[in-house]
Amino acid sequence: MTNMLHRPVNDQLSLQDIRQKNAARIFHALRVSPEISQRELVDQTSIDQATVSVIINALVDNNIVARKKETSQGKVGRPRTALSISKETSILMGASIEPHAISLVATYMDGELIDRVTLDTANDMKPTIERVYSAAKDIAKNAGFSTKQILGIGIGCPVVFDVETQQVWSSRHIDWPKVNISTLTKQFDVPFLFDNDANTGALAEKYFGNCQNIDNFLFVGGPWGIGGALFIDGQPYKGSSGYGGEIGHMTVVARGRECGCGKRGCLEAYASEKSILARLAERGTELDDIHEVALLAKHGHQFANHILYEAGDYLGLALSNVTNFFNPECIVLGSEMMRLAPLIRDQMQHSLRENTMEGLEPNIILSSLGQHSIAMGGAAHVLESFLNQPTGLIRYLS
Ligand SMILES: [Zn+2]
Repeated sequence: MTNMLHRPVNDQLSLQDIRQKNAARIFHALRVSPEISQRELVDQTSIDQATVSVIINALVDNNIVARKKETSQGKVGRPRTALSISKETSILMGASIEPHAISLVATYMDGELIDRVTLDTANDMKPTIERVYSAAKDIAKNAGFSTKQILGIGIGCPVVFDVETQQVWSSRHIDWPKVNISTLTKQFDVPFLFDNDANTGALAEKYFGNCQNIDNFLFVGGPWGIGGALFIDGQPYKGSSGYGGEIGHMTVVARGRECGCGKRGCLEAYASEKSILARLAERGTELDDIHEVALLAKHGHQFANHILYEAGDYLGLALSNVTNFFNPECIVLGSEMMRLAPLIRDQMQHSLRENTMEGLEPNIILSSLGQHSIAMGGAAHVLESFLNQPTGLIRYLS
């Protein structure tokens, strides 16, 4: 009896799921192949013609997809109709909040950049969020959009919190209170979506970067410290409390240097820009950034060379441990790691090769999204929510 009662509900959910997945695949195909024809869309997605037709008609009716008749240019037959994601209906906003700066980007729904600004971080969470909201409104207005057309503001920040409840658990690099973020954002007429910076950076790679067709990868980088996030079988793997993939606190030296997390011997205590500068400062050499360290090393400073060697050695070791365990196809170095990696590449790759099981060595690539990858990940977070939540794309098909 129980089964009979439950079966129709499950069947209904399953149909809804299939429709949502099909719509998301069609949207993704339109995003990566703008100006595609409906026939090409059928071929590319392997979704049957009738389903593609129903979904496209609904999306055109709701101004999410635009049809454009192309001239036949002297060719025989009917003119081709090109389909693209509309650039007029809604926009995405993404932000990276760092201890001293906020990077804010606005994109069309297909991810094409509209504008990018840098703001100062306020001294508390509430005014920081207000600053992001105000700047997002200004960018939208300048681009000819109303606040209502902002689909959401996705934010990556160096904070660990429960994604479901939005409760902040800890914030090591930014002095934020352990509050529930939703209490700070409910006053705004635009949805806010938060995640930690590494998860956000990984999402950017999956939607807009080098990993759009890669299902198993590790993203390493954060604007501050060493963050990490995993994608497994095409899905973000966050672990039981949202901390999955955080490679920065993998122990690379038993009972080694003290780390900001309270443990000892973490990768972050050796291979982050902050730790490298701190190690030199402990020896009386105060420098401002990693490029000054590289210059010092180039001029033969023995200790500067030693700590860059160790940074590469331990980073390679940590990446090999992840590789032996998860077998990712590639590892993307983004954000801070893009500055550091070229300086320690040789030792990192040597250590990776030395410690990785034969045949498993992944491609190590730099993020194509540059220093703004976390902010782009915020925009990707909004897009992901639009494609997968019941309040998003699927409601236009009912
Ligand atoms: Zn640590």
